[in-house]
Amino acid sequence: MTRVFSGVKPTGHLTLGNYLGAMRRWAEVDQHQADALFCVVDLHALTVDHDPARVRRLSRQAATLLLAAGLDPELCTVFVQSHVDEHARLSYLLECVASDGEMRRMIQYKEKAPREQARGGSVRLSLLTYPVLMAADILAYGTHEVPVGDDQTQHVELARDLAVRFNHRYGHTFVVPKATPPKVAARVMNLQDPTAKMGKSDDSGPGIVYLLDEPDVVRKKVMRAVTDSGREVVYDREGRPGVANLLEILAACQGGNPEALSGAYDSYGALKKDTAEAVVEVLRPVQERHRELCADPAYVERVLRRGAEKAREMARPMVDAAYRAIGLLPA
Ligand code: ADP
Repeated sequence: MTRVFSGVKPTGHLTLGNYLGAMRRWAEVDQHQADALFCVVDLHALTVDHDPARVRRLSRQAATLLLAAGLDPELCTVFVQSHVDEHARLSYLLECVASDGEMRRMIQYKEKAPREQARGGSVRLSLLTYPVLMAADILAYGTHEVPVGDDQTQHVELARDLAVRFNHRYGHTFVVPKATPPKVAARVMNLQDPTAKMGKSDDSGPGIVYLLDEPDVVRKKVMRAVTDSGREVVYDREGRPGVANLLEILAACQGGNPEALSGAYDSYGALKKDTAEAVVEVLRPVQERHRELCADPAYVERVLRRGAEKAREMARPMVDAAYRAIGLLPA
């Protein structure tokens, strides 16, 4: 059976981008068709200046939202990364396979390191090395497919490279995974800046739709989305990124494809209105279920505890095999 692994990082409130680019498929497709693991990757939230209480709060919220989005612990494994030691254990071995140069070429490091410096802080070493931890997250489970938005392609490529290199040097150990981005909404853009990804860790609230935004807040954000000069509704990602983004969101929420949908509109206003309503409808059941789950935190905790036990059982043999293959004495 295909093994699937993916995760979300508790660095901010989850967004429509997280949902359309990743979580919705996990719930609607992956957990039914594959042996799937979904993880709150909390160790990745420590790579930049962080507030411990906030990370704890956001980790709980992210786990609750994964369940609210429809992940069923009877069908898949939901857990928190730091509860399973195998991730960090394997990460060190992979650091011995990765090179300094390839880490420094990672886009996220090149973007985030100067930002951290500009804020007057030092750049944490983990900001450089976390893609290796991400490779460990994936490789520890013998993962075949990683359903992610297309911002994660480079990270999955690194996991592939490290798997191939490790297997070549030390004998076949790891499955070589591949990224599987969605057909539509693989990169939902910021509504205020449609040339930038809608990212939960960004500061600019008005361009980001959060999964827990009230319907009226969603409507306001979508209606105020930056569109392009011109008035025709055409799907052109390069030339008309604002309108293209709305068409993609609409298509992802109500079905259909962005190009065909563009023909149904002759004004930006009408497109925005329908997009806003479509987003509100998509978020409604997630928000309802989230409210129910918040009333039963013990249930969420039970799911996470059980999920971590299952994940540990799956990862342990793979990571032990890697330790032996690389030359370490069995304990
Ligand atoms: P973020 O950038 O919001 O911190 P994460 O690293 O937690 O995202 O990613 C969780 C999942 O959501 C990943 O599969 C990622 O590719 C996907 N994702 C994040 N932002 C977007 C977006 N704007 N459009 C599509 N998918 C996205």
